[in-house]
Amino acid sequence: MSDCTHDCSSCSENCGERQDPQSFLESPNPLSNIKKVIGVVSGKGGVGKSLVTSLLAAEMSKRGKAVSVLDADITGPSIPKIFGVCDKASGSEQGIYPVETESGIKLMSINLLLEDDTAPVVWRGPVIGGAVKQFWTDVIWGDVDYMFVDMPPGTGDVPLTVFQSIPVDGIIIVTSPQELVSMIVEKAVNMAKMMNIPIIGLVENMSWVNCPDCGKQIKIFGESKTAETAEKFNLPLLAQIPFDAKLASLCDKGAIEDIEDNPLKNAADMLK
Ligand code: ADP
Repeated sequence: MSDCTHDCSSCSENCGERQDPQSFLESPNPLSNIKKVIGVVSGKGGVGKSLVTSLLAAEMSKRGKAVSVLDADITGPSIPKIFGVCDKASGSEQGIYPVETESGIKLMSINLLLEDDTAPVVWRGPVIGGAVKQFWTDVIWGDVDYMFVDMPPGTGDVPLTVFQSIPVDGIIIVTSPQELVSMIVEKAVNMAKMMNIPIIGLVENMSWVNCPDCGKQIKIFGESKTAETAEKFNLPLLAQIPFDAKLASLCDKGAIEDIEDNPLKNAADMLK
């Protein structure tokens, strides 16, 4: 090409001289200055990915960091509800403004843009991927120390697009103790490896229930396979979170920032 700069990282041309694989990374809004992006992923839905995202964000905010949450789970957006945010997002010519929680965590979610947040999002994969990209390119995030991305569940088309377009510094994989789930976790681990994204560690959720009478741990899913999976891939098991009615109630009330004994304190220590 006549106007070739020999910088393949910023060029989309597939010419014969290309040395690096093409990068699909998108630039953030010019008014965003985001230091670290942590993706929270799960091999499948319903294992507590949004809960873990929210607990990590709440903990880092409590530690005085500037925190934001990008809710990339477009078809199951639960972040605004967990933080008790009902206001809708607004915008200007420069972009879309995130909505702030009580403690100042900046949020963006499809539910902050839809008139009716009970309306199902019946969009095809590329449209969903496009919406997530816009949360990165069009939202005015300002100065952020830690952005947590609540990733779409699974290892399909949409998470792939998100990984390709947003520069994720590391991921945390959330799982439950079931054997079936450990196989799905391996898919998530392998996907991160394929995408060259460092895995910070695993978080096991719904690990047990404490008997209210004798305090004994009841393992509803049987013996956990997570430690085995963590060892197999040489990954740290960052935390095990029990089923806890208090946690469910804090999520339902939109009061996750009021948590007193955050089970992810040690996991948060791992975020450099
Ligand atoms: P995901 O994001 O993986 O789909 P969520 O974080 O939305 O999963 O969790 C699914 C549901 O289970 C939510 O209603 C949440 O409040 C509840 N939940 C998740 N983990 C726990 C837990 N450890 N104790 C009690 N309830 C939980």
